[in-house]
Amino acid sequence: MKMQSPISSSVLVRDVRHALVTGGAGFIGSHLCDSLLQRGARVTCIDNLFTGSMRNIRPLLNHPHFRFIEHDVRYPIRIEGPLNRIYNLACPASPRHYQTDPIGTMRTCVVGTMNALELARQKSCPVLQASTSEVYGDPEVHPQPESYPGHVNPTGPRACYDEGKRAAEALMFDYRRVFGLEVKVARIFNTYGPRMLENDGRVMSNFIVQALQGEPITVYGAGDQTRSFCFVDDLVRGLEMLMESPRSVTGPINLGNPQEVSIATIAREILACTGSSSTLQFEPLPQDDPKRRKPVIDAAERLLDWHPRVPLKKGLEATIAYFALQLAVRAPCETLGMPKRNSGRNSRTRLTLASQR
Ligand code: NAD
Ligand code: UDP
Repeated sequence: MKMQSPISSSVLVRDVRHALVTGGAGFIGSHLCDSLLQRGARVTCIDNLFTGSMRNIRPLLNHPHFRFIEHDVRYPIRIEGPLNRIYNLACPASPRHYQTDPIGTMRTCVVGTMNALELARQKSCPVLQASTSEVYGDPEVHPQPESYPGHVNPTGPRACYDEGKRAAEALMFDYRRVFGLEVKVARIFNTYGPRMLENDGRVMSNFIVQALQGEPITVYGAGDQTRSFCFVDDLVRGLEMLMESPRSVTGPINLGNPQEVSIATIAREILACTGSSSTLQFEPLPQDDPKRRKPVIDAAERLLDWHPRVPLKKGLEATIAYFALQLAVRAPCETLGMPKRNSGRNSRTRLTLASQR
């Protein structure tokens, strides 16, 4: 496996005195807050707790260099004093959540990003936008390089997010052209790990929770659609490396793990790792669901010396262990060094908090 050079790691501690993370109480944002604090930065986290949770940042609340502000980025953001970095992550990422309030999602993408950009102008600091592989839509080019302009349905149910994120990218580059702002755009591919919401609706959290509870695994379509899953630690490291890259490195730059797997394969891997006897339950494929997705990460490797390090199996083990704890069950995964339980075909892994008391 390729290791990061020492230069790349030392670059991460350069000059980050005060970082703002919007969406910092969310899944990726809370890991980013952890990492920035560990690197000695002062961190202000802004979140409206739409899909984020205080649980994710509770351990940080007593940290002397951490501050949480409950705020909606659709309204102007005011921060006292100097700011050195803005990471703009505020936006629901799961189709289930971003589609419950599509107009609100579009406003978060567009108005929220403008508010982050205005703050960056005011503070004269770089701003990084958490964009997405969804800007490629249901791609006709595979795998997807950054040069591919995408194949997005502008009127479908995913458009509030896909087109919102595309508009956010346009704003980033217009603020660069018009005001000379230092901007960085990361196109994040499917990321997973501890702190995803149990009811998030995304495939990893759904399948793991279903497997741990002995519920049917809800495979949409035939399960032959593919995704490429990146463990959250790798992704956060990539975001920080992009932020600390030279001014000329603006992106858009793909950050993701190029290991492509079908959704049915993910289901089987999770069943094997949990020892669950859950069965597969096939359900209709949602409209505009992308059929294939895999990043070309040559630019991230060349410009940032970034490469994902965590193999799928290891990432799954860590994520399953997290959800098992959340569900108050022990992860029945031998590789975690725990005794395997409920692994027989006829046994059920359904354990609830109540049954543990
Ligand atoms: P998440 O839903 O866990 O986190 C998003 C956070 O933003 C939540 O804490 C939420 O409460 C907050 N938020 C939403 N709207 C807000 C608003 N108007 N004002 C303030 N806070 C708001 O999702 P995540 O997976 O952590 O994603 C973080 C970012 O990364 C998002 O911008 C998402 O689009 C992007 N991204 C994630 C993935 C992925 O696979 N996880 C893939 C591509 C892009
Ligand atoms: N998916 C699935 N069952 C689920 C949740 C999702 O089969 O319970 C599928 C979904 O249709 C998609 C893939 O898994 O093809 C990834 O879905 P997710 O919502 O995690 O991410 P996205 O579609 O945004 O990549």
